[in-house]
Amino acid sequence: MKATSEKKKQKKVIFRELECDFYIDTNNLVPPDIIKFILGKLETTTIQELNKILKGIKIYIGGNHWHYNEKGYIKYQTYEFNFNNMTLLIFLNKIFELGYERWRNSLYGALRRYVWESFFHELIMSVVQILRIDLTMVDLVKNKNLNTPDDRTTNLVNKLFNYDNEAYRTIDFFTINSVLWKETLPEDLGFLYTLYSRRINLLKKKSSKSYLSQFEKIKLYNELRKIKMGYKYEYNLSELVNYCIHSEHFEPFFRYNTENYSKMHREFYYKAKRQILKFFKKYDITNELNEYRDKANRIHYFLTHTTFERVKSACLQVCLANINNKYLKEYDSFKSFYDTCPICGKKDINQINCEKFYFSSRYSYFKELLITNMKNTETLEDLNTNEFYFGIPCEDCFKVIRNIQGKYDDLDEVQNFVRRYSVCPICGSKNHLEYLLDFYYDDNRDELKGFLLKNMGNKNHLKNFNINLGIPCCNCFSKIFERDPDDLRLVFNIYE
Ligand SMILES: [Zn+2]
Ligand SMILES: [Zn+2]
Ligand SMILES: [Zn+2]
Repeated sequence: MKATSEKKKQKKVIFRELECDFYIDTNNLVPPDIIKFILGKLETTTIQELNKILKGIKIYIGGNHWHYNEKGYIKYQTYEFNFNNMTLLIFLNKIFELGYERWRNSLYGALRRYVWESFFHELIMSVVQILRIDLTMVDLVKNKNLNTPDDRTTNLVNKLFNYDNEAYRTIDFFTINSVLWKETLPEDLGFLYTLYSRRINLLKKKSSKSYLSQFEKIKLYNELRKIKMGYKYEYNLSELVNYCIHSEHFEPFFRYNTENYSKMHREFYYKAKRQILKFFKKYDITNELNEYRDKANRIHYFLTHTTFERVKSACLQVCLANINNKYLKEYDSFKSFYDTCPICGKKDINQINCEKFYFSSRYSYFKELLITNMKNTETLEDLNTNEFYFGIPCEDCFKVIRNIQGKYDDLDEVQNFVRRYSVCPICGSKNHLEYLLDFYYDDNRDELKGFLLKNMGNKNHLKNFNINLGIPCCNCFSKIFERDPDDLRLVFNIYE
């Protein structure tokens, strides 16, 4: 009897030294230290606010501990809040999966750090959410189902969490995030470590049956090497190279160059690697590269998290300064010349279109025209008149006009067309913008388009003839004509 109560006590921890009045029931799943460590990043005033709201935090693995459709519970991806007893329930399984997914898609970094970061991040996020609770509403929501996806519930939840009030009890994310990356990885991650080991074993099994892609295999092997070296080194040198060449400065070279992807990638990779090794030599820090020989006697270099964080931006700068400088400079002047949308006049427009036009072979026609005109004029204004526009439109404008030059009148026409035919004449539902634009820009439908354009203003007139002119939505189209809406020869003249 005594033993059990002793055990219970051990499970429930209250961090008096952090001035927490709420308990933390770890279920022996995570060491209390790491929770204390995370909550320690919050300001004392935040903890005091939290004391007013929160009675306790409970840690679970997941599975059947989730509360589906139970009154007074609100459910999020990795945690729940129970308004009946004001406790926060944290689910490790979901947290692990989030960290794993991020790691799986990233080009550098060790899995354990992603898992740890995920735990840190989700715990802070849940606290932020709790801090927003309007305490006067708690009694009201106790017997309410808070996860129903209807408008009434959404409104209630919005009020409950003060979503209209931007400034409501917020915390300083920036500081917390920058602190996070400076920290060393905790030795003991509790059950998160169990989940980690299980996943590694699963990946090993998959690898032996050749179920992994080349990319996944490389990630796994690097992870296994990190384990072998006692997790002292969280990065392989190639991960540092990847960090540099997949930065926003180099990424567009590959991203929009699908045909040449592997060739360019290899070229940049080796150039960057040489630059980085030179950098390590120049600053006499090659001793921070730990040599590792694999079974085939190939050498791999590994570095610690501290080294990686210290050198990564310097290495990026070195790569930027030395790799394909000419090419990058050209692109920079292109980007700054065309930095304003000629249609809406938005400045510093999202660079996605600039990158696409410059780097993707799909737009080589546009690119040639843009570069020629750029070389022949001083400013972008010189290329635009009251009647004609020229330049790189912002993403929103390009979606509609799909061109880099034209008459402003043409633009008006598209906009009127889209407005006029925005509703399906049969069911009354809204036509997708893309669908209408595809129709508008399809050369095969010129005749029909001409007819629709001519009759844009004649809505009432045609009504007198009992004709409802319009473009049926994709659903109605396939229902009526039993064919794909791509074949749109019959779209008009829908009789009421
Ligand atoms: Zn625009
Ligand atoms: Zn319809
Ligand atoms: Zn549709």
